[in-house]
Amino acid sequence: MNPIAEAWLVKTLDKINSLQSYNKTESIKRISKKYNLNLKKCIILDSNENMFLSKNLLSFFAQKLSKEIDFRLYPEEELSTLESSIAKYLKLSSQCVMVGCGGDQLIDLITKTFLIGKSNVISILPTFSFYRISSEIVNAKYLQVPLNLDFTLNLNKILKMSKNSRICFIASPNNPTANQFKKEQIELLIESFPGMVILDEAYVEYGNYNASKWVNKYENLIVLRTFSKAFGLAGLRVGYIVANPKIIKPLSRKVQFPFPVSTFSLKMALEILKKKDLVQSSVKTLKIERKWLIEELNKLNLKKVFHSDSNFILIQIGKNLEKVQSRLLQRGIFLRHIGNVLNYEGCLRYTVGTHEMNEYVLDTLRNIVN
Ligand code: PMP
Repeated sequence: MNPIAEAWLVKTLDKINSLQSYNKTESIKRISKKYNLNLKKCIILDSNENMFLSKNLLSFFAQKLSKEIDFRLYPEEELSTLESSIAKYLKLSSQCVMVGCGGDQLIDLITKTFLIGKSNVISILPTFSFYRISSEIVNAKYLQVPLNLDFTLNLNKILKMSKNSRICFIASPNNPTANQFKKEQIELLIESFPGMVILDEAYVEYGNYNASKWVNKYENLIVLRTFSKAFGLAGLRVGYIVANPKIIKPLSRKVQFPFPVSTFSLKMALEILKKKDLVQSSVKTLKIERKWLIEELNKLNLKKVFHSDSNFILIQIGKNLEKVQSRLLQRGIFLRHIGNVLNYEGCLRYTVGTHEMNEYVLDTLRNIVN
């Protein structure tokens, strides 16, 4: 190899290898093998997917579409059709919407577009880990301001530390704390921040307010949404951003891939959007289940059960976390290991499952912790 290439490659790979990686759920297959579990019987509640939409209904749509689509062809007008339908659903102009390959791809597109030159990214602690990964890969410095102990925003500190930041990521509701922040604080942040505010509304359907309409008012706001959560299509990788047309136009024409999403995924997203009443009723059912589940979890001998505006609940187990989690796994229950959250030691993130799933988890947890 050319010695210049060799030295450069070593340095470049060292840098990439030193970055934090996305903590994917430890392979469910590997764990189920380790604990000798029947995968079909496992209760998988660690990735905040929607267990309330019927798997059979989605399969029915998929079968219908697979007969309609000519897979030899690139997607054509499906992307703009979906964007128009999303815009209609949000009661916004279709020029305010851009579809991408899941929220992750759109986060990546945002960092690569707006982090030109030496600028920082600011966010909160704890929050969704991909913001850091996507910022550091483009050499940006990633700053995090811890939430207050009641999980409210420390807005003064965020603004104080924002001088050289051009992107601020706020998840609303936040992952893993599950709460939504005060509307007034978010508006103040958008008005005062010296760059783009990315309001990540991946879980917004489960929350108390949404900010998509604010893009008519604020040019430095991008609202990020996904079909992976309430719309039940995590496996198909469809997300979208909502922003002022001044932002959407260059992003979609100059930065986005020519064909970011498959025809199949686009059409499935369109199909589920047509069934928005079903989605809304699954959200309603989840909220009722969430309320009951929090009450039941509070009856167990857990350190703390936090409030939730989302489709998951943060629970504090304490210093026995590893033991408790391994006993849950032995019984085929997968909840997400979070670890320490601010001063709260040993936390798990529990995606709200169906009533039947939750009863099993509660029974098991009761036996472990009580
Ligand atoms: N934002 C938040 C806060 C998330 O938790 C996730 C996924 N867990 C995403 C964005 C990305 O979701 P997706 O890529 O599936 O759209």
